[in-house]
Amino acid sequence: MAARMLDGQALAVRLQEEIKPQVAAFTSRHGRPPGLAIVLVGDNPASEVYVRNKLKSGGAAGFRADLQRLPANATLADTLALVERLNESPVHDGILVQSPLPKAMGADAAQRVFDTIAPAKDVDGFTPINVGLMVQNRPALVACTPSGVIELLVREQIPIAGRHAVVIGRSEIVGKPMALLLLHRDATVTIAHSKTPDLAEVSRRADILIAAVGRPGLVTKDFVKPGATVIDVGMNRVAEADVAQRLFPEGHARLAVFRAKGSILVGDVHPEVAEVAGAMTPVPGGVGPLTITMLMMNTLRAASARVGT
Ligand code: NAP
Repeated sequence: MAARMLDGQALAVRLQEEIKPQVAAFTSRHGRPPGLAIVLVGDNPASEVYVRNKLKSGGAAGFRADLQRLPANATLADTLALVERLNESPVHDGILVQSPLPKAMGADAAQRVFDTIAPAKDVDGFTPINVGLMVQNRPALVACTPSGVIELLVREQIPIAGRHAVVIGRSEIVGKPMALLLLHRDATVTIAHSKTPDLAEVSRRADILIAAVGRPGLVTKDFVKPGATVIDVGMNRVAEADVAQRLFPEGHARLAVFRAKGSILVGDVHPEVAEVAGAMTPVPGGVGPLTITMLMMNTLRAASARVGT
């Protein structure tokens, strides 16, 4: 039987409807909307799209959502100075610095920037203070993508406690916090990565399999225990015909889209996994929309905490 598709887009719309009255109440009580500042350095095309979507969703939900743009030749010092100004801004409750930063800023630029954001405004949950609180399972602003995955599992009534979760990927922004959030909900958690031998065998032990890798279609049928829940965090733009043809059979609608546009957005999970999984998220329309919704929730939370309500 084909897997149940977990519709992240529909859940994101529902959650944003739930937030709207809270945003309106904040605005009427405090005479201003909760405010989010998004810092974009340079002109990375993928970042432009992500930022546009965040600004649009924020505006639609009633937030003040401002783009703070710096040119591609801005220095790390310029970026840190902007973050410091935003830390002091009375109208911005949340600050998000869009990754990646220009390579010329140096390998540790992102870390330096995240170290500078005031933890109370860190709506991405990337500062050391918020990461530390999250590790200790204390209330904190938590990274948006893993929070969105938990929200999806909970709302779809997929049991977590006592289940074996395997997270493929150990990045600071997805894999590690994902594993910890599952652990805090009493899953038994395995973290796999590029040095894990026999990845398929490790993955097949999962009741809940999370792929956060960045490799199109890496997770094939043989990675999945029949009936398991598979969450695809991957967002990969594929422009090679052989990769698209490996993922979609001749005649598939998405292959037609690829041929018309010259590229297509795919996840880390091969579509054939739908033949064995019990439930899975699509790409697009799965985890991605929830990430933005969690950003809105974190901004509202940061705003409420700042004004003490
Ligand atoms: P990342 O920082 O590049 O980390 C990738 C992780 O995957 C690393 O831990 C790496 O292992 C592991 N890995 C790479 N190749 C592997 C392989 N062949 N087998 C097993 N593990 C492998 O990436 P990220 O920032 O976590 O993002 C992962 C994916 O999620 C990307 O496609 C990204 O675009 C997507 N993403 C989506 C959202 C969303 O809103 N949906 C948000 C953020 C990211 P090592 O540590 O050993 O190198």
